[in-house]
Amino acid sequence: MGVIIANRRLLSLGLEAALIVSVLAHAPLVAAEDAPFFRVRSSDQAISEFIGLAATRSLTFRNLVALIQMSDGIVYVEPGTCRHGVRSCLSMTLVQTGGFRMLRILVNPTGSPWGLMESIGHELRHALEVLANPALTNSHEVFLFYRGISSTARDAFETPAALHTGDAVGEEVARSRRVIKRDGHAVHRWQ
Ligand SMILES: [Zn+2]
Repeated sequence: MGVIIANRRLLSLGLEAALIVSVLAHAPLVAAEDAPFFRVRSSDQAISEFIGLAATRSLTFRNLVALIQMSDGIVYVEPGTCRHGVRSCLSMTLVQTGGFRMLRILVNPTGSPWGLMESIGHELRHALEVLANPALTNSHEVFLFYRGISSTARDAFETPAALHTGDAVGEEVARSRRVIKRDGHAVHRWQ
């Protein structure tokens, strides 16, 4: 009987150890509070690179990402087609899961990468408009919210804040390109 208990105890310890090893294997190699958890993400490698590049070139873009990082939102930026012939759009679909509000931005990744960064910046501002409002917990509420604040009609909603933010990101990445050309450093293949 004692042996069985001992074996059970060992078995239990073994499972605990396996669990700890498994958790550690999947944990980032930094302290939990410093864990890099990017709330703005993409399954598309090129888009991920453009997001990273925009954050290095535009303070406005960097601030957008930082604010989303502090929110309860996760924003996916994925290749896709928007209606009305626009290059990018924030989907009205909001999914709540695991304590997070998930939003999706669709972009056409072809064409000028600088224009793409501006478009993503514009849509991240829309994402923040939603995430800054904790009462918005489903897609219908997001739709009603935009119908209430939008400066345009029907389902092609627009806000001055997003237009302004996109312009600011566009100007900042353009300025960074001029600085790099003038000073001749930090050459990037999209320069
Ligand atoms: Zn917009």
